[in-house]
Amino acid sequence: MKRESTRSADRTRSLVIDGIRSAGEISRVELATRTGLTEATISTVVRKAIDDGLVVEIGHGVSTGGKRRTILAVNSSARHAVGVSLARSRIALVLTDLSGEVIAVRETEGARDAHPSAVTERLAREIAHFLGAHKVDPESVVGVGIASPGPLDCAVGELRGLQPGPLWRGFALEERLENLTGLKVLLDNDATCAALGDYWTTRRDAPPPVAATVYMADGIGAGILVDGRVFHGSSSNPGELGHISLDINGPQCHCGAQGCVEVFASPSAVAAAAMRNPGLVASLELSDDPDVDRRTFEAVATAAISGNKAARGLIEASARYLGAGIVTLSNLLDLDEILLSGPGFTTAGEIYAETIHGMLQRGTFMRGIHSVTVKLSDLGVDAAAIGAATLVMQHQITPHSAINSRRVNAT
Ligand SMILES: [Zn+2]
Repeated sequence: MKRESTRSADRTRSLVIDGIRSAGEISRVELATRTGLTEATISTVVRKAIDDGLVVEIGHGVSTGGKRRTILAVNSSARHAVGVSLARSRIALVLTDLSGEVIAVRETEGARDAHPSAVTERLAREIAHFLGAHKVDPESVVGVGIASPGPLDCAVGELRGLQPGPLWRGFALEERLENLTGLKVLLDNDATCAALGDYWTTRRDAPPPVAATVYMADGIGAGILVDGRVFHGSSSNPGELGHISLDINGPQCHCGAQGCVEVFASPSAVAAAAMRNPGLVASLELSDDPDVDRRTFEAVATAAISGNKAARGLIEASARYLGAGIVTLSNLLDLDEILLSGPGFTTAGEIYAETIHGMLQRGTFMRGIHSVTVKLSDLGVDAAAIGAATLVMQHQITPHSAINSRRVNAT
């Protein structure tokens, strides 16, 4: 077991590097104010971080009468991480640097009905090829993060649900991919990853006290950040926004409840509603195949923003159901900020944002005290994969802000 003083030093280093990373550019004096550490401590830790290549001095600030302050920044190219978003229809790989900047994206075939062992072996080959193609120094790679739909068990690094397919339930994903790649592998749910990705790549003085990133891909979830740290609940499965029941007598949901947000608002629900409209099927040339739900949804979303009234009606209906869930989530958590993220919002995100904003203004319990802002994420279709890279970067570089309920050998 580590000695207490070593732990304290590790935490201080983690705090300092996170302070520099989140500010973008900052002087030692400002860093002392932001972290609450003494200037002497900052000076020692920064010197070591510069020696390790993690931090660089990039110039001098404007003089305010005294000595000009040296400005610090993280050395973005010093570390790299791979993020993977694992889904039935599509697997995406992203390569990011220490600041979360995306260097490359690679899209590969989804998991479909293949055995998890075969998909994991393919993934290991893809990762090796990906890193080789971009000439990344293997020493600079901190690991691989995997974003997957929940439920999952972070304590053992396994999936526990039906996505991306039933064979994945109980498959030792983290351990198997670690053995195949020789890299640290961490798994978390896609909404949490998306939230983390936005937090890591957005530069601001202080995070909002309580924020939620609503992530919509095949399903709908929410990643919750409290003071910029992920809220993990008891088992890393919080924020199941898609499984708030809106109608106790509604259609059966795969989760076991009835009338869930996901049953009414998800892209596959929109696709199914479109398939019941013969006029839309004909005009958008829609095809009835469950594996093309995402494409059907995209066709409807594209038509909606191009002025097709029937398509717009379906997207607005989805947005209202989702909005009802988000109002509930806001009331439960007293949220300050909602970020809409993921492939479900990349085309018709403005319609969702506008509808949800109106519902929050009219319907939150605390609206007389503060408003809840709604924004669209800048991370686009690969938000979860970018966030997965962030997950492993945070765990390895600034562990003070990461969860510790990971697999025992996940160090
Ligand atoms: Zn449900």
